[in-house]
Amino acid sequence: MKICSLFSVGVSLPEVEEEAEKVLKSKFSLLPRFEGVVPPDARGSRYSQLLAELQLENVLIRKPEDSIFVLALTPYDLYSDGLNFVFGVAYPFRGCIVSYARLLSGNKDLFLSRVRKEIAHEMGHVFGLQHCPNPKCVMHFSNSLADTDYKSEDFCPSCREKLLLSMERLGLV
Ligand SMILES: [Zn+2]
Ligand SMILES: [Zn+2]
Repeated sequence: MKICSLFSVGVSLPEVEEEAEKVLKSKFSLLPRFEGVVPPDARGSRYSQLLAELQLENVLIRKPEDSIFVLALTPYDLYSDGLNFVFGVAYPFRGCIVSYARLLSGNKDLFLSRVRKEIAHEMGHVFGLQHCPNPKCVMHFSNSLADTDYKSEDFCPSCREKLLLSMERLGLV
């Protein structure tokens, strides 16, 4: 099993990290390893939002040699060039960052399900998957929380096939 490094940007929330570990193991056959909490990189931040790409790069430089990918989790809201906010950002075959700022809910099960969906989505990009036109597929683009809530936690048959191919190429299965 190959290791995927897990980082928290700003604050650690163990129940979110636990969900991340479940998703990495069950959907991607990766062995999660929590590396610690990284302070947010203040450059590019505006109001309470952090620049997604910068935070991801700040974590990627800390990736230990023996891990294949990086997954960063943050309670801070993220934005990207030209986008008011993003749920996450991914660099194919390198790593991704997921913000749970906009996923919070009074219903804990709903919150954790949203967290699993956004992690599966961004990790899908890490494995080279693109957005999927099927609104139930976890690789469907979420413009809003309603889109996230509508889609399932799973990959559609077509995306699943692409994911498996990518996992085979990387020697994960
Ligand atoms: Zn996406
Ligand atoms: Zn799909």
